[in-house]
Amino acid sequence: MKVLGIESSCDETGVAVYDTGLAPDQALRAHHVYSQIALHAEYGGVVPELASRDHVRKLLPLVRQTLADAGLAPGELDGVAYTAGPGLVGALLVGAGVARSLAWALDVPAIGVHHMEGHLLAPLMEDDPPEPPFVALLVSGGHTQLVAVDRIGAYRLLGETLDDAAGEAFDKTAKLMGLPYPGGPQLAKLAEQGTPGRFRFARPMTDRPGLDFSFSGLKTQVLLAWRDSDQSETTRADIARGFEDAVVDTLAIKCERALDAAGCDTLVVAGGVGANRRLRAKLQEMAQRRGGRVCFPRPSLCTDNGAMIAFAGALRLEAGQHDDASVHVTPRWDMATLAPLAPDKGAPAAHG
Ligand code: ATP
Ligand code: MG
Ligand code: FE
Repeated sequence: MKVLGIESSCDETGVAVYDTGLAPDQALRAHHVYSQIALHAEYGGVVPELASRDHVRKLLPLVRQTLADAGLAPGELDGVAYTAGPGLVGALLVGAGVARSLAWALDVPAIGVHHMEGHLLAPLMEDDPPEPPFVALLVSGGHTQLVAVDRIGAYRLLGETLDDAAGEAFDKTAKLMGLPYPGGPQLAKLAEQGTPGRFRFARPMTDRPGLDFSFSGLKTQVLLAWRDSDQSETTRADIARGFEDAVVDTLAIKCERALDAAGCDTLVVAGGVGANRRLRAKLQEMAQRRGGRVCFPRPSLCTDNGAMIAFAGALRLEAGQHDDASVHVTPRWDMATLAPLAPDKGAPAAHG
């Protein structure tokens, strides 16, 4: 099954073709991401109306380019998947409108995909994909969640952030130390040059039981440390390192607790912060110590992309699910309300 995937929930326009008829390493026939970072940079954050308009401008050219790279004519597609939520309503509607119209014109089924399910399933596109049950850590710009995955589509929330998401904490902390937008990846880069241990920040909420997170206090600790420092380049890098270590340690501690609680040894990590090198190394180390495994998507599939939407959509379309012809999006959407795939379709069809 050849499925076109469209992602437009925020400030990235992503398009991909996933072909379940091919071997896993060939199945992603083409994918492109157009980032609106430059457009929003002067405002220091995403401006929703500008984001919608830019998706309108970029989406169809990106669909054409992706199909050309995949060597496919539109008529060869078997289905269309799009992000139906959560996200910015205007941005979502652009993707949903284009996806639904294309599906209608081509007379193929369309399916709205939950953006976080897209992130969660992205590691299953890699070699030797994990099979449920596993625990997923979703760490992105808008979410920090620990999820028990009993089978694909059946998600139980184990814990989540009570305030800032991990990616949001990276971005805000970067901003308050004067790094240019979007700061998260820049802060991580700076941290690589920092001296560990010179600044030590709290590991929030690790001193009590539970699987919830809180990252907003950490941001205040950094603000105070930065304000009272010499504000040199070295200090900035050392604070960045202290902050990154605090976030990474906190995430690792809670991941291990979640694995214990779920009685399971496989951890799946997804979302933009999953690209963080120190987080990857730390979780790898933890998994090895436990004799378990941790699975990540390649870094380019951690942040928003169309491939994860094409893949998640393909699994659902192959299980016989699809949407009606209305253009409908769900800006706020709880992943626990999703329909599981049929029990016999628990493993990704592309690898079965
Ligand atoms: P959501 O998926 O919750 O709707 P989003 O789509 O905006 O939010 P993603 O695209 O998954 O989020 O990830 C973007 C986030 O990842 C940003 O907050 C960014 O700072 C963070 N991020 C990206 N790379 C890194 C990195 N190497 N280290 C830490 N954070 C990173
Ligand atoms: Mg983004
Ligand atoms: Fe995302």
